[in-house]
Amino acid sequence: MRPNRFYDVTRIGPVQVGTHHDGRGRTKHTAVCTAPRCDFSADYNTRAAAELAARTHRCQPR
Ligand SMILES: [Zn+2]
Repeated sequence: MRPNRFYDVTRIGPVQVGTHHDGRGRTKHTAVCTAPRCDFSADYNTRAAAELAARTHRCQPR
């Protein structure tokens, strides 16, 4: 699934935070961990929430 165009992408540690539109006129903020073997990713309604999640994320390698 890659219908979204992310913009305003920043990296906080291993986590990238990007903003995109959800196709219904709303803006979503996604935090995705880029570390190998870490599947963390989540959507947030506000940029602040996404950045906070990125900052507090701890990888849990399997
Ligand atoms: Zn991680």
